[in-house]
Amino acid sequence: MSQIPHLNEKEVTPRDARREKREQMVGRQLRGRKIRSERVLEAMLSVPRHEFVAEEFCARAYDDAPLPIGDGQTISQPYMVASMSEALELTGTERVLEVGTGSGYQAAVLGHLAREVYTIESRTRLALEARERLARLGGYDNVHVHAGDGTLGLPELAPFDAILVAAGAPEIPPPLVAQLAEGGRIVVPVGAANEQQLVCGRKVGGELRSVALYYCRFVPLVGRHGWPAGPLGAPGGK
Ligand code: SAH
Repeated sequence: MSQIPHLNEKEVTPRDARREKREQMVGRQLRGRKIRSERVLEAMLSVPRHEFVAEEFCARAYDDAPLPIGDGQTISQPYMVASMSEALELTGTERVLEVGTGSGYQAAVLGHLAREVYTIESRTRLALEARERLARLGGYDNVHVHAGDGTLGLPELAPFDAILVAAGAPEIPPPLVAQLAEGGRIVVPVGAANEQQLVCGRKVGGELRSVALYYCRFVPLVGRHGWPAGPLGAPGGK
């Protein structure tokens, strides 16, 4: 009898165990909190979140929480990633802009949901790491990582059918509204540095119609149309 648990343990490879953790994450944290899009749930089941955090955080990769990714930045909580992705109502044909690549996890999820994803990160080290990580994992040829100030958008690649900002902004950066296609959707955490509301907007007749969804907490968006560089989130600061 004492042999049986040992044999069973061997059958459960880390790969299966992680798949199981992802299934639990999707069931409890996402379905359980009313994420309804099957496409989003499927994408969250597919992306190996543990590959986007440092070794020391691997065991917590599927927890209901954000995790540190270095430079004082965080990979967002799974629920936030799913909820923001769902708000964009992607069907698979869209060209999407993400501001704040971080680990590249949200971009990978968007890669499953849209045709092309352009993601921009202001911290060069994080941008390079995310680009390498996505290349190593494979299957993300439609995700393109850029380095620079994302509050300026990527005018040479505009217009975008959807835009997701993964850092807290004092207001929606005007260049992003300008680069949003007619009928396109944008989600941005807007508010104070320590608490924001997730604002979801749609461009109708050239103007943004937006609603605030719920309160959230993101690291600051630092840039020309974001917060000024300083102790809150500037390179060199915390
Ligand atoms: N989406 C990420 C998490 C983002 S955390 C993930 O899935 O891991 C927010 C990121 O926004 C940080 O990496 C931060 O460096 C970046 N950021 C802050 N201001 C920015 C700006 N102006 N342009 C681009 N990236 C910015």
